[in-house]
Amino acid sequence: MRGELHYDAVVIGAGTAGLVAGARLAESGAHVCVLAKGIGSTHLAPGTIDVLGYAPDRVASPREALSELVAARPDHPYALIGLDTVDHALAWFESCVGAGPLAGYRYVGRFEHNHLLPTAVGALRPSTLVPETMVAGDASAPEPVCVVGSRALRDFHPALCAANLTRAGIAARAVEVDIDVSRADENALGLARRFDDPAWRAGFAARLALKLQADERVGLPAMLGARDPGGAWSDLEHRLGRRVFEIPTLPPSVPGMRLYEILRSALRRAGGRLILGAEVVDAERSGSRVSAVLARTGGHDTRYAAPSFVLAAGGFASGAIELDSRWITHERVLGLPLRGVPAPEQPRFLGDYLAEQPMSRVGVAVDGDLRAEGADNVLVAGAALGGAVPWRELSGEGIALASGFRVAELAGAGAAATTGAAA
Ligand SMILES: Cc1cc2nc3c(=O)[nH]c(=O)nc-3n(C[C@H](O)[C@H](O)[C@H](O)COP(=O)(O)OP(=O)(O)OC[C@H]3O[C@@H](n4cnc5c(N)ncnc54)[C@H](O)[C@@H]3O)c2cc1C
Repeated sequence: MRGELHYDAVVIGAGTAGLVAGARLAESGAHVCVLAKGIGSTHLAPGTIDVLGYAPDRVASPREALSELVAARPDHPYALIGLDTVDHALAWFESCVGAGPLAGYRYVGRFEHNHLLPTAVGALRPSTLVPETMVAGDASAPEPVCVVGSRALRDFHPALCAANLTRAGIAARAVEVDIDVSRADENALGLARRFDDPAWRAGFAARLALKLQADERVGLPAMLGARDPGGAWSDLEHRLGRRVFEIPTLPPSVPGMRLYEILRSALRRAGGRLILGAEVVDAERSGSRVSAVLARTGGHDTRYAAPSFVLAAGGFASGAIELDSRWITHERVLGLPLRGVPAPEQPRFLGDYLAEQPMSRVGVAVDGDLRAEGADNVLVAGAALGGAVPWRELSGEGIALASGFRVAELAGAGAAATTGAAA
C-alpha cells in the first residue's frame, strides 16, 4: 500500500543543513516536510559552528580569510553562498538558540573572530560560534586550567588533555572526581542527565571544590546538562566560584544533541514536519524536474510530491554519496551528477592518510544558485556540496548552516517567481 502527501517543499536530510533549510522555509510560510533516514552528524560533532578554522594556516578571522578563499576558489561552497549570507545565517542561528527549548543556553561568537578551544585530547581548535558553556576554555584566558575527569567516563582522559594543553603553552593539570554510576561505564549523555539534577550537581561541586586551587578555571567533559545546560553550567560556576567550561567529547556529543534539539524545535515552531526513519529510495521525474520522492518507513512507501526539493543528505559519511566496488562514484538519493570526481586514470586515494585526498572535494554538481545540475527544482545544501574539504578546513558546520539558510532563501524566491508567473 502506498500513501501520498503534498508539500510546498520537501527537504531530504535532518543534519544541520536540512534542519536549517526546513526551519527557514517553514518560517517563510511554506508547508514543509523534512524526511530523513536517521539523525545526521550533529550527534557526533562538537556542536560548535565552525565557519573556517584553517586556510591552510590557522584562521583568526573567518570573515577575512573567507574573502580570500572565495576569491581564490570560485567553486567553493562559501563562494556560492556569499559572505553576507554567512553573516545572516549566524545571526539567525543565535536568535534561534534564544527562542529555543533550552532556556538560558546561548551561543557566543562573531564572524570576525575564532575562539581557540581545547578538544578532548587537549589540542586547540578554532571555532566561530560556540556554546557559552565552552567559552572559558579559550586559549587567550589567563587562568591556569584544571581538567576534571572521572573513572565513570572512560572515553575522557583528563591527564592527556592537561598534558597537551601544557605543551601548547597553557598551564594545566588534571584531577579525577568520583561519580557513582549504576553501569560499568557511562557515556556523556548519561552523565549529562545527572547534571540536570540540582541536588546531584551540588554533591558533585562539593567533591570537586576540595580538589581545586585558588586561581584555576575548570574544564569538564561536555556533559553539563541535557535539559537545562545553561542552568547547570551557571550553577556550577556559582558553586565553585570560578569559570567553568565544557570540552567536547567523543560521540555521543551532548552539545551536538542540544544543537539538534534547537534546530528541530525551530522547524516545529514554524509549523514544519520532521519524519525520521524515512529513507528516500526513489524519485519521479518530469523532464528536468523532480515531481515526487518515494520514502520508505518501516516497509511502507509514501510518495511526497512538491514543487521544490532540498537535497541535504550529506556526503560520503552519511552514505548519500558512495564509491562502489567498481570504483564508480554515485549520488545515491536522487541519482544526480557529481563533480570533483578524479578522472578514471587518476588515483582515488593517496598513501598519506592525512593529505588532501583526491576524493575529498566530490559533491553534487550545482550551478551558482546551488541548483542541482539536471534537476531544476532541486537545491543542494551541506556536505552534499562539493568543492570544500571540511575536515581540513574545519568548515563543515558553517557550510551546513549557511547553505541550509541560503537554499531556503532561493527556494522561497523560486516559489514566489513561480506563483507570480502563474498569476
Ligand atoms: C565525527 C564527526 C566529527 C565532526 N567534527 C566536525 C567539527 O569539529 N567541525 C565541523 O565544522 N564539522 C565537523 N564535522 C562535519 C560536520 O558535522 C558536517 O559537515 C555537517 O554536519 C554536515 O551536515 P549535513 O546536514 O550536510 O549532513 P549530515 O549531518 O550528514 O546529515 C545527512 C542527513 O541526510 C540523511 N540521509 C542520507 N541519505 C538519506 C536518504 N536516502 N533518505 C533520507 N535521508 C537521508 C541522514 O540520515 C541525515 O539525516 C564532523 C563530522 C563527524 C561525522
